[in-house]
Amino acid sequence: MSARFIFITGGVVSSLGKGLASASLGALLQARGYKVRLRKLDPYLNVDPGTMNPNQHGEVYVTDDGAETDLDLGHYERFTGVNARRSDSVTTGQIYSTLLTKERRGDYLGGTVQVIPHVTDLIKEFILKDTDNEDFILCEIGGTVGDIEGLPFLEAIRQLGYELGRERVMYVHLTLVPYIAAAKELKTKPTQHSVKELRSIGIQPDILLCRADREIPVSERRKIALFCNIPEDAVIQALDVGSIYEVPKRYSEQGFDRQVLKCFKIEDKGAPNLAKWDDILKRIESPKAEVTVAIVGKYTGMGDAYKSLSEALDHAGIANQARVHIRWVDASGFEQTDIEKALGDVNAILVPGGFGERGVNGKLAAINYAREHKKPYLGICFGMQLAVIEFARNQLGITNATSTEFGPYEDKDERGPLVGLMTEWMRGTVLETRRHDGDMGGTMRLGAYECHIAPGSLAEEIYGAPNILERHRHRYEVNIQYRDAFENADMVFSGISPGGNLPEIVEYKKHPWFVGVQFHPELKSRPFAPHPLFASFIKAAMGNKTELKKKAA
Ligand code: GLN
Repeated sequence: MSARFIFITGGVVSSLGKGLASASLGALLQARGYKVRLRKLDPYLNVDPGTMNPNQHGEVYVTDDGAETDLDLGHYERFTGVNARRSDSVTTGQIYSTLLTKERRGDYLGGTVQVIPHVTDLIKEFILKDTDNEDFILCEIGGTVGDIEGLPFLEAIRQLGYELGRERVMYVHLTLVPYIAAAKELKTKPTQHSVKELRSIGIQPDILLCRADREIPVSERRKIALFCNIPEDAVIQALDVGSIYEVPKRYSEQGFDRQVLKCFKIEDKGAPNLAKWDDILKRIESPKAEVTVAIVGKYTGMGDAYKSLSEALDHAGIANQARVHIRWVDASGFEQTDIEKALGDVNAILVPGGFGERGVNGKLAAINYAREHKKPYLGICFGMQLAVIEFARNQLGITNATSTEFGPYEDKDERGPLVGLMTEWMRGTVLETRRHDGDMGGTMRLGAYECHIAPGSLAEEIYGAPNILERHRHRYEVNIQYRDAFENADMVFSGISPGGNLPEIVEYKKHPWFVGVQFHPELKSRPFAPHPLFASFIKAAMGNKTELKKKAA
């Protein structure tokens, strides 16, 4: 049997958690023994989110094969453990870019190129590609029904329902049932309108997933069913939960996965096996310790900007049966004088990935504080580059150590800048190159790269393996020519690219736990397989007793 397709749309308002809903359904089908793959279709015109501001759009999630994608792909991976691929994410920008290349090449043979059928055909091609070995493909359509830019996507999924038949296609619509305080009632009208909108373009949803902050009375569910033309037991309530990892279980209790099978006329062979979900929920609910980690970064006002990072810290909490509190510290408004107040009572400090000069001094001050006060420190990507800059300036006497990200390098040191643009390296047997004047969107080292770990290092103890694969997303590299100077001062380059020229991990021997990594380990952490680096970091934080004031946590 070829793959079946489940299309997930959203109505009424954005931010209802369509990504989590899709990921949870994927996990439930998987727990019933099916093979699933999740895809995201984003209607915006950017080619990918790589150049978008994380404050607006949330984090950029990077896949093993180097695609810069929407953060929902992170949810998919974390919930199902299935590694996403480039072919699991598409935007209107990509569709048009392909279309216009074809048009210029003359592929349309003089025909008029139109949204229907040319754009919709390309969308369908994307949805159908590479699906042979799957039982279910879950496709989440970004945005909200009613958005102008989403129309070609909805038209494409409507056509697929017609072409593949209802045995292979179904539609799930996520809506909001708001509580109106003045009337003391939950209101179903927005849901009715949203479904009406969908039906006006030819899509009749099979299941309605209704977000509400309280139990939706049976009478109201009946009303939704009647007005929206769907069976009563296909109106599933999606109530707010304490942890996102509760969602699959709660949905299953409401009969979501059962209803999906029913729609496809697949025999229900018994409840999904949710033992591993029960296990992590138990760990989340009964922590034996609490720690606070300060994240000193630039996008601290928006939780989604560091989504994978906060998830990875939660997973590390699950691994150590500890509750991890995050204190977001805005590096740009951070003065030397604030340091003791902001960081004095935390158990560990983390400087995450970042771009640009704003906030750099605050981050350097935080790193210096972590190093001198022996607080566990994890520097990720930019956090590693700044850790070596801090070390060079304050321990090696290279007072003007810098990154060319902050301006042209004008010093005379023959080793060149400490952090700079590398123009070439090997990826396996392939030579990869970068140009200084390349496009913003295309000059980065992206995706999974191998790293060799030095025997006897902390990194080796943590990973328990001589070679690892981790995902990257950055333009600049630490300059290998400084290796001896650093290692003579006990800052060891304990992870190096196979070609030997790209430092991937640094660690400071005169510190209980001070590690910088050029890659983004948070992208590979899962609740069921917490990332070893984060697990070790939190373990070190638990050993670092501080006078943490309850309210500060
Ligand atoms: N700005 C740095 C670079 O481009 C670090 C990027 C990051 O932290 N992801 O190399």
